[in-house]
Amino acid sequence: MTLLNVVVPLYREESLVEELHNRLTKSIKNISASYKIILVDDGSDDGTWQKISAITKKDKKVIGLRLSRNFGHHYALTAGLHEADADWVVVMDGDLQDRPEVIVDLWNKAQEGFDVVFVSRMRRPEGLLYRAAQKLFYAGLRWLSGIKFDSTQANFSIVSRKVIEAYKTFGENARFYNSTITWLGFKRAAVTAEHGTRHSGRPSYTLRKRFQLAGDIIFTYSDRPLKFSIYLGLSMALLAFTYLLWVLFGAFTWGFTVEGWSSVMAGIFLTGGMILVVLGVTGIYIGRIFREVKNRPLFVIGERTGK
Ligand code: UDP
Ligand code: MG
Repeated sequence: MTLLNVVVPLYREESLVEELHNRLTKSIKNISASYKIILVDDGSDDGTWQKISAITKKDKKVIGLRLSRNFGHHYALTAGLHEADADWVVVMDGDLQDRPEVIVDLWNKAQEGFDVVFVSRMRRPEGLLYRAAQKLFYAGLRWLSGIKFDSTQANFSIVSRKVIEAYKTFGENARFYNSTITWLGFKRAAVTAEHGTRHSGRPSYTLRKRFQLAGDIIFTYSDRPLKFSIYLGLSMALLAFTYLLWVLFGAFTWGFTVEGWSSVMAGIFLTGGMILVVLGVTGIYIGRIFREVKNRPLFVIGERTGK
């Protein structure tokens, strides 16, 4: 049985696989010689897989998995976690923003008796505007989803065997490592560390992907949008009812007048629009039910090397 696994999803990271491997090995050797590194190529279309294969030929402690196509960060991670069989598993991004040197801190903290230890990023290298936008984004996310996200914590963490076994029972198609682990509970702690800058290559998350992820998280973890649509409907009905009372009152006291065609039209469009919004929100949830009900595999492994 190995003591430690490190799972790293990689997508179009050919420029830094070697550097990652070197720094990881150097860092983990300080902990134990009983480890395996699991590199998951998320269907990259560059030389990432060739680099991984070459490394597994030289270093027997590296296992390479290649998904059959690009499934996405959290699915690649899931694939790696299903492969992991050690007592402790470290999860990290492969772009060296999660610094391999911090693994030792994670390990030491976990040995104090915790099942889950996350890295809190102390100082983000990104600009002020980016950080402000991010703060706002997380505040909105917290409000809409009802989950207490810690914006300083991403995926960089160490978890015990128990946690991984529990994690693997999650068959949900919508997948976010951090929120799932948070949901699971267990004894949790955090260590602070500086966040590195991307070693090379481009961040593969675009703004669109980020918003998609946020939407995913909101609709997966919360039914608040459904409740909001009910409140919206209720307040509209209340508004319409008071208006009706006012109109009746006017008709009886000042006599009825056929006025206000425009206000009627406005009312029709307003309610029509709101009904569509509410239907849309419901539709999103039905779409998600559909996705989950199909129960498709979360990832498909195309190739493997090492071991
Ligand atoms: N990644 C992946 N599949 C994808 C996109 C990204 O496996 O479709 C990997 C990527 O190689 C990196 C990690 O996920 O190791 C985080 O990606 P990125 O650095 O682009 O995210 P950011 O740090 O900007 O949040
Ligand atoms: Mg990154």
